[in-house]
Amino acid sequence: MNIQSLLRENIRNLKPYATARHEFSGVAEVYLDANENPFRSDYNRYPDPTQKKLKEKISQLKNIDPGKIFLGNGSDEAIDLIIRAFCEPGNDAVLVTEPTYGMYAICAAINNVAVKSVTLTPKFDLDEDAVLNAIAPTGKVIFLCSPNNPSGNLLSKEKIIRVLTHFNGIVVLDEAYIDFASDEGFLPVLQNYPNLIVLQTLSKAWGLAGLRLGMAFASAEIISILNKIKYPYNISSLTQQVVLEKLDAIAEKNNQVQQILAERSSLVNALQTLPLVKQVYPTDANFVLVKVTGARKVYNHLAEQGIIVRDRSTVVLCEDCLRITVGTAEENRKLIDTLAKL
Ligand code: PMP
Repeated sequence: MNIQSLLRENIRNLKPYATARHEFSGVAEVYLDANENPFRSDYNRYPDPTQKKLKEKISQLKNIDPGKIFLGNGSDEAIDLIIRAFCEPGNDAVLVTEPTYGMYAICAAINNVAVKSVTLTPKFDLDEDAVLNAIAPTGKVIFLCSPNNPSGNLLSKEKIIRVLTHFNGIVVLDEAYIDFASDEGFLPVLQNYPNLIVLQTLSKAWGLAGLRLGMAFASAEIISILNKIKYPYNISSLTQQVVLEKLDAIAEKNNQVQQILAERSSLVNALQTLPLVKQVYPTDANFVLVKVTGARKVYNHLAEQGIIVRDRSTVVLCEDCLRITVGTAEENRKLIDTLAKL
């Protein structure tokens, strides 16, 4: 696997911007190098462009070397940078397996990169032969999402591995919802696959969506490419500071995940008793895909009652489906009561 040869030529040749803090990273008494306002406040200085402390903390938490971690303004930033690093606009393509998270295709479209699409199986698993057949010859990046949004299921591990080992390009495995899953995902085997980029986020299980912190894990070579092309100060001081504190609250996070999982099974059970529910799909995430009679009507009725779910009924394989996030016990009860009266 020659990662350099997969890169766009302009990115391979790019000399990145070096900030004042890249030039001098020690501790000094007087900083007159970055044209900041000298009057002290919590935020008058630029943040650490390398996010050193935060990466060390995440490194301990995930048991991954800091050099194999990229931090982005949400995982959406990593998705965009991966496309920009590897796909030549107007020439190259990415592949998505539908139905899935919409931003892969949208980021590709913004970058004028073609999108190849392969439909998942009726059980929302990977059709790995179709993926491998469709990707050649222009496809550079395959996006897989496990647990998948909006279906909620894990993709089968063997099929992911087949794609990883048979595709001579980048495979992005989006594990945004892995903390809710019955599987540990691919971080423990990251070193086995030089073309693998695992995405995770603090927006879901960690409850920090407002802070915008997404993580990409990959070989040091791939991570150094993403670092080279990111905005220099992409993670604000506020986010770096608050996330550092919040990552100590692992017990609270685990506790909330356990509560969400317990609520998920109650919600699934309650949904299954409702006459308008035709199918509740198996889920490994903090949401559940539900096939109902007349999805748009049900959506509108819920919205009128102040309950917002996600209407996925126009999406391939998701006819008449709503995607429902697991809320608090009280929120879920309100949802079920409202549906029961329909
Ligand atoms: N990946 C998936 C599968 C998602 O569902 C989402 C958010 N809905 C994201 C990535 C984006 O997460 P972030 O908040 O880290 O940008």
